[in-house]
Amino acid sequence: MSQALVLNMTYEPLCVVGTKRAITLVIDNKAETLHHTGQVFRSQHLVMPEPSVIRLAYYIKVPYQRKISLSRRAIFLRDGGKCQYCGAPAENIDHVYPKSRGGPHAWENVVASCKRCNSKKEDRLPEEVGLKLKHLPFRPKEKIWILARASVIRGEWTQYLGVKPATLAAAGRIDVSENAGPSNIINLKSIATQDDSGQDQHGSIELALTSSK
Ligand SMILES: [Zn+2]
Repeated sequence: MSQALVLNMTYEPLCVVGTKRAITLVIDNKAETLHHTGQVFRSQHLVMPEPSVIRLAYYIKVPYQRKISLSRRAIFLRDGGKCQYCGAPAENIDHVYPKSRGGPHAWENVVASCKRCNSKKEDRLPEEVGLKLKHLPFRPKEKIWILARASVIRGEWTQYLGVKPATLAAAGRIDVSENAGPSNIINLKSIATQDDSGQDQHGSIELALTSSK
């Protein structure tokens, strides 16, 4: 099942929903379709173009403080899928200040890393083994959190998410062409071995989508 990006009335990205949910919102006049996937959705009673991006016909108030859960997928997205020590394709999550020495499992202390750097470092500090971080780890903005929920990211979503296609390509390790289209998708399943646990915020937006007229 495909997914669609849901934008607020103000074009602010809100969440990702399944195709059926997106189509229901459009049929109920709660949303309009801005982009199609190029595929056709067929059910027993319905044949219509599959929505890729929809915009709500009403405004959903989003709480200011969003909890961005610390998932493997979100960390890889933030770090562009690259080892933050050497730039090689990342395969592991590394705690900069090791957990065994009291380092927290927090955005500011985790980075994507390759196997080599990760095993070289073990339970030591980067400077103790001659490794240097290219960027200091940071708590990402909410858009990465939205992307972390998606099974695939379509090219036409990036203009609303403010994320460079190149960054996504690095994280998804799949090339993205300039033009949006059915083939212009990035598969995140390859880096998503651990699911996102931050259902609270997503759940509240989904609830708002269901209850609003
Ligand atoms: Zn490395």
